[in-house]
Amino acid sequence: LKRRPKLSVCCLPRPLSYWPQVAKVIAMPFSYLSHLDCPQCQRRYDADQVNGLCQCGSPLLARYDLDAAAAALDRAELARRPPTLWRYHELLPVRDPGHVVSMGEGMTPLVPLPRFGQAAGVPGLLMKDEGLIPTGTFKARGAAVGVSRAAELGVRGVAMPTNGNAGAAWSLYAARAGLRSLIAMPLDAPLITRNECAAAGAELYLVNGLISDAGRIVAQAVGDSGGALMDVSTLKEPYRIEGKKTMGYEIAEQLGWRMPDVIVYPTGGGVGLIGIYKAIQEMHKLTWLPPGQLPKLVAVQASGCAPVVRAFQAGERACQPWADARTVAFGITVPKPLGDTLILDALADTGGTAIAVEDDDLLADLRECARLDGEFLCPEGAACLTAVRQLRASGWLDGTEEVLILNTGLGLKYPGTVPADAPVLEIGDSIPVRP
Ligand SMILES: *Cc1c(COP(=O)(O)O)cnc(C)c1O
Ligand SMILES: [Zn+2]
Repeated sequence: LKRRPKLSVCCLPRPLSYWPQVAKVIAMPFSYLSHLDCPQCQRRYDADQVNGLCQCGSPLLARYDLDAAAAALDRAELARRPPTLWRYHELLPVRDPGHVVSMGEGMTPLVPLPRFGQAAGVPGLLMKDEGLIPTGTFKARGAAVGVSRAAELGVRGVAMPTNGNAGAAWSLYAARAGLRSLIAMPLDAPLITRNECAAAGAELYLVNGLISDAGRIVAQAVGDSGGALMDVSTLKEPYRIEGKKTMGYEIAEQLGWRMPDVIVYPTGGGVGLIGIYKAIQEMHKLTWLPPGQLPKLVAVQASGCAPVVRAFQAGERACQPWADARTVAFGITVPKPLGDTLILDALADTGGTAIAVEDDDLLADLRECARLDGEFLCPEGAACLTAVRQLRASGWLDGTEEVLILNTGLGLKYPGTVPADAPVLEIGDSIPVRP
């Protein structure tokens, strides 16, 4: 260091690599991650240690030096970066680009649903299509960032209970990162997700019960593993939400750095909703959004498992466990979300709401949207369609709003949900075709 040449005009034409120490000093960090903190009791934690929940039991959130990031980052420059969620790497927790595990996830399209929207009385209806992402669901976002950061911190194996999609995404990203994975899912979770885990080489267990039952079994296994496995259950580690918050950044960027009036989200553990809200708050601090602009956040649940809706309507800040949880929208069957307070606060702070929809209605709207707009949503995404229709009918929406729904997965991952009924022809039969 003593012999470091003075940085003067004469040395500037040389490439930065010629001055390794200088490059180190003036290069921008890949991530502006500063620490973790607890949104309930404000305790701080070192982000460069492996951390689970806060001592008080709350999930921890990743915090960034947003002033430095705002000074260093040009919003317009982002447009020239590759179309993956890593375009926001300064606001993600991975410190070394060499640790990024990516299969091209992110920057999913915003697609208008004009005919369904018109029929529902909300012509400004937009869908962000998370079906078009590796593994076919937005769980890939949390897995990409969560696995990358876990590997960076020296974790060797991950374990989680899942309703299927998260297990598929995490086991595939873990495979790519060279990590071990242990997955426990309900017996009746979508078959394709079971197959994905098995193909990825996960240690896969099928539980005759709900995700909450699987969670207790996984927690025990992690305890018994002597540190070989990390519990990466929803919100039990702080980085999955960082992956999911990128939906919020993308929505803003894709709309020209503004937010829609309403965002409708199919809520299980609520990570996407909490993540989008966190992204909005960060973007306000970065001055990337017009001051004060805040979309109303709407949590959609199935009436067979609606703990968030029940708590919201009762004005409570925590959920009671839902008994006998059951719905075709398997990804949102979460009887007691760990992040319940964060979800309920986000709904209240944004003037949003929570609504439960019937399985029959969401299946009818799934078909209706395919028929009208050619979009074949997953059942969870279709629950948002029903919610929009019902919120318009009740007057909560007045029909002039720009409303964005999240289609959180590919309809094709659920081949059994809308069975087709078609006549079978014998060879030589003719079709009584309409003129
Ligand atoms: C997991 C999942 C959800 C719910 O996501 P949370 O972040 O747990 O609320 C919604 N839709 C699909 C398809 C899912 O797999
Ligand atoms: Zn705490």
